Amino acid sequence: MQKKSIGFVPTMGALHQGHLQLVRQCLAENEIAICSIFVNPTQFNNPEDLANYPRNTDADLAILRSLNCQAVFCPDEKELYPGQPLINFSFGYLENVMEGKYRPGHFKGVGLVVSKLLNIIGPSRAYFGQKDLQQLTIVRRMVAELDFDTEVIAVPTVRESDGLAMSSRNQLLTASQRDKATDLYKALLAAKQKLITGMSVMSVKAEVEAFFKNSSDIELEYFEIVGSNDLKIVDDVFTDEKISLCIAGYLGKVRLIDNLSFN
Ligand code: AMP
Repeated sequence: MQKKSIGFVPTMGALHQGHLQLVRQCLAENEIAICSIFVNPTQFNNPEDLANYPRNTDADLAILRSLNCQAVFCPDEKELYPGQPLINFSFGYLENVMEGKYRPGHFKGVGLVVSKLLNIIGPSRAYFGQKDLQQLTIVRRMVAELDFDTEVIAVPTVRESDGLAMSSRNQLLTASQRDKATDLYKALLAAKQKLITGMSVMSVKAEVEAFFKNSSDIELEYFEIVGSNDLKIVDDVFTDEKISLCIAGYLGKVRLIDNLSFN
């Protein structure tokens, strides 16, 4: 008997249109769509961030039902982690930059939970957002190196009408923080424009850093220009490889990330 194709969308819930885009694509490309909702403690390096992470399971289930998603996996913590895990993922240079640098241990937790979920669900395809570019890169690498029988599908970032990348964390912003949050995306657009007109990577980085130094609303954590596939920091954008501009910053205690492809 031919196995039905299963598409899988792992999430941490508090679903928004970005997640739903993944679910819609998953439904369109597979006979069965399965979504998971699990706020994975092992990928939080900051206990306060874990405690404050928005949780909205009843509303999430209603949304998924309305989309005709056939199954939702909502494990509890003990189910996935009956004991302290001994296994320790390491992604080498892929986790020495950006999110990996500022959220130590984050990708160990991502690797652990994604590999568990892929083993439990056994999907033909798994859907990940380009919004989390480093996560996508690391998951691709893990799936390839560990021979998971799953195709990783990247889904473009879904944005609010003013350009802010949709994120579950956006609902933690105050109204004035929400207004200012779009500066992250604006900075990416402006930086891309300057690179196109020939400004050097070094000067563009310095300008972005100076802009946020003068901002009382956003504390910049990093702005990096990297190879989209290997995440290596580049000093020239006019090469054959794909380049991405990546940013992370805090509005109060809320940490947001975004990225934009250059070419
Ligand atoms: P999360 O619930 O934040 O762990 O996200 C679950 C999946 O949705 C991840 O693959 C994210 O990259 C993806 N995702 C989150 N926000 C967006 C967005 N604005 N557009 C596209 N995908 C997204």
